[in-house]
Amino acid sequence: MAYAYDDQNIFAKILRGEIPNDTVMETEHTLAFNDIAPQAPVHVLVIPKGAYVTFDHFCAEASEAEIVDFHRTVARICAEKGICPGAGGDGFRVISNAGVDGVQEVPHYHLHILAGRPLGRMLARAS
Ligand code: 5GP
Repeated sequence: MAYAYDDQNIFAKILRGEIPNDTVMETEHTLAFNDIAPQAPVHVLVIPKGAYVTFDHFCAEASEAEIVDFHRTVARICAEKGICPGAGGDGFRVISNAGVDGVQEVPHYHLHILAGRPLGRMLARAS
């Protein structure tokens, strides 16, 4: 796995407290905060505190404790936001962009949680 982590990326700066964030939830291994440019009424970014670049990097190299903590945190946020279909919510989408084709802007692994309006089809056609 050939990932080089750039510790000057914006989420690394947020984790170091150099840039403020609107925290939604924080655990031992995970931080979640509102996106600065929300695309839906709910738009939360969930990031591991460890230095991982993409979804595959995280899944391959993070500890089981980090992986479990991360995903349980996503579930807890969805529950607290009232968006889980199993609890009467209207649903949500989680997205992880990776690399050039995935149009990843920030090279620190993150999941977007989007909800609060109908989100349309999964992918927009490239023009
Ligand atoms: P990506 O395209 O990498 O999947 O998404 C990066 C996301 O980070 C974008 O939705 C963008 O609005 C968000 N973002 C970029 N800079 C900041 C920031 O300084 N603070 C917060 N809260 N979100 C940011």
